[in-house]
Amino acid sequence: MAKAKPPVQKNETIDLSFEDLTHEGNGVGKIDGYPLFVPYGLPGETAQVKVVKVKKNFGFGRLVKVNEASSDRVEPPCNVYYKCGGCQLQHMSYAMQLDMKHKQVKDAMHKFGHLSHVPVHPVIGMDDPWRYRNKIQIPVDEQNGQLKAGFYQKRSHKVIDMDTCLIQDEQNDRMVETVRRIAERLGISAYHEGNHRGDLRHIMVRTGQNTNDIMVVLITRTDKLPGKDKLIDEIKDTFPNVKSIVQNVNSEQTNVILGDKTTVLWGDDYIYDTIGDIKFMISPKSFYQVNPNQTKQLYDKALEYADLRGRETVIDAYCGIGTISLFLAENAKHVYGVEVVPDAVTDAKKNAKLNNIDNAEFYVGQAEKIMPWWLSQGLRPDVIVVDPPRKGCDENLLHAMLEMQPERIVYVSCNPSTLARDLRILEDGGYETKEVQPVDMFPQTNHVECVTQLVLKEEAGS
Ligand code: SAH
Repeated sequence: MAKAKPPVQKNETIDLSFEDLTHEGNGVGKIDGYPLFVPYGLPGETAQVKVVKVKKNFGFGRLVKVNEASSDRVEPPCNVYYKCGGCQLQHMSYAMQLDMKHKQVKDAMHKFGHLSHVPVHPVIGMDDPWRYRNKIQIPVDEQNGQLKAGFYQKRSHKVIDMDTCLIQDEQNDRMVETVRRIAERLGISAYHEGNHRGDLRHIMVRTGQNTNDIMVVLITRTDKLPGKDKLIDEIKDTFPNVKSIVQNVNSEQTNVILGDKTTVLWGDDYIYDTIGDIKFMISPKSFYQVNPNQTKQLYDKALEYADLRGRETVIDAYCGIGTISLFLAENAKHVYGVEVVPDAVTDAKKNAKLNNIDNAEFYVGQAEKIMPWWLSQGLRPDVIVVDPPRKGCDENLLHAMLEMQPERIVYVSCNPSTLARDLRILEDGGYETKEVQPVDMFPQTNHVECVTQLVLKEEAGS
């Protein structure tokens, strides 16, 4: 049977009631069963919507005017929210954000894992869901003869004129503004993408939220940095807790922010931070969790699910700089970490030493290759922890895990869909998914992180 024509036309303005939210946080309303996705629409609201795109089975609209606002609609506190691409959920109450993320995880369990019966706990949110990010990397531009530092406007490389980012640590914000002001006074020019001229490309700031150390990285096109001694003195005077001022040279025409060459202008080329009682050394290029306080919540859950007694052999696959491994090592006999990025493994080894942890070893390689190799060498871990990127675990890795038959598997995931897909494979291979705990690591954005416990079913292990 031929499908009916879409009931709306492009550029038409219609009244729409929103019934639901997508995982991205867009409102969903239907006209004769035909769904329209509308950014900033909230369930329960009716609104005027301009149709901007019409496809065969669905369309997109732009919110023109809300007729009846939901009690969960809030005035976004950030005054560039609707221009900037960084946050997606500032127009809804935090309670609604957490509900939306909870539902997203439950829906994914059902749709991609056929696991509707598995308990998904309410999302662990933040008491204060603002100012949580410990790292900012912000482009610099020149507008009307003034130096500006701001994020790019949605889908463009135009820098927004902004003076604060409300999800950033306040010190990062103030540091960016300080550097911008001093640089402007010293005549340091902004880098122009168009003609590949100018000095300062990006300002990057990292704050150790638990140590109060600050690192500033000035990313420049060439070695040249006019007035650099003055710049250093003024930064130090304004922020006595700055520990590291670094110049990074990126002379390429590229979207990649950091270049290969890093020179210390003052202090060390690293800062420290802690998560729980583990200390981490952070260099300009190191990966480090951007919300360490919520990371602690996530890892505490992972540790609870690993249920270690001190005698266990544990594998941490996709281990990054060993953050989870070091947490586990304090409670296990031995931890094996595997990670594909060599620099991350170097950091993991450094961090193990720094914390006097000698029962964790780290290997560089693809987890899907190293795991089958460990299996062939007779390694039989009691617990396996995985924390893969968005695309989830490689199938070879899942099969190696199934053959290793650990008592427990702890799956940490930043993508509920691939999590559910992989849980289905593990279930079919003899594991039972006990529970899923979502954690809100990135309030105001549409991301959600989960930690899941699986146990080997009795009959599978015997
Ligand atoms: N567990 C770490 C990092 C998790 S992010 C933490 O909490 O900090 C996922 C990690 O998987 C990244 O460090 C990425 O480099 C790594 N990775 C991606 N593909 C991989 C693969 N095929 N094998 C091993 N590691 C991989």
